[in-house]
Amino acid sequence: MTFRTRFAPSPTGPLHLGHAYSACLAHDMAREAGGRFHLRIDDLDRARSRPEWEARIKDDLAWLGLSWERDVWRQSDRLTRYRQALRQLWDAGLLYPCTLTRAEIRAVANAPQEGAEGPDGLIYPGTHRPEMPPKGEMPTTALRLDTARAEAAAGPLSYVETGTNPGTNPDIIQIQNLFQSAGDVALARKDMGASYHLSVVCDDADQQITHVIRGEDLAPATGIHVLLQNLLGLPTPTYHHHRLIRDDTGKRLAKRDDARAIATYRAEGLTPRDIKTML
Ligand code: GLU
Repeated sequence: MTFRTRFAPSPTGPLHLGHAYSACLAHDMAREAGGRFHLRIDDLDRARSRPEWEARIKDDLAWLGLSWERDVWRQSDRLTRYRQALRQLWDAGLLYPCTLTRAEIRAVANAPQEGAEGPDGLIYPGTHRPEMPPKGEMPTTALRLDTARAEAAAGPLSYVETGTNPGTNPDIIQIQNLFQSAGDVALARKDMGASYHLSVVCDDADQQITHVIRGEDLAPATGIHVLLQNLLGLPTPTYHHHRLIRDDTGKRLAKRDDARAIATYRAEGLTPRDIKTML
């Protein structure tokens, strides 16, 4: 099977060092395996996505020496596909509408202390979940997964976590107690149609991605992704969650951290080689 991976930036800010690391790693792993490297634009967040950011991200990636498959997918073109996946879960009785605001969820969620956040932000324990799965037409409101019911429907779940070196033995990660660690995650939002968790799973499967290479901050979300793949009858790719690039104080780089934007380094006269040495 051809090795296929992707880099999936959200066009909501500049490409910074952390993204560059992820993109270069995925690109180089694909080249080494004689495989394909895709660029995918995660622009579901219509309020914050900007075509200018997409253009600048592409320009920085090309400047870094990366090349990608000509066919660049955009999530905003795939809303019908996400709706179809949602309907599949709705028909299986695994979704329910939820119109709680963030503040209302905060009030019912676990105490907002360290560790109380799941891959979806605050862990929503399903306080307003209907007793029986709703039937009939799927509403266009926000929809949440009945995670405990979904886990029971899916059976045992696991995925393969590999290193960067194909010679080393991969780890098999068993997934358990997703409801405790993630709660009832949002799969459709009123403003976006679909959530990141749902869209990424559909995109990776439809694009025949064999290896997902991304930051270790997304490792906790992988359980939800594997659960959704299982429920939707989609294949589970191999994952490699890489270390995160941090600033001098050990803090993760944020999107707004313009000092680490590749554009800033370019303006200061650094070369792609300088950036790669830094990484
Ligand atoms: N757009 C997502 C991000 O930038 C992609 C995550 C992924 O690679 O699955 O965090």
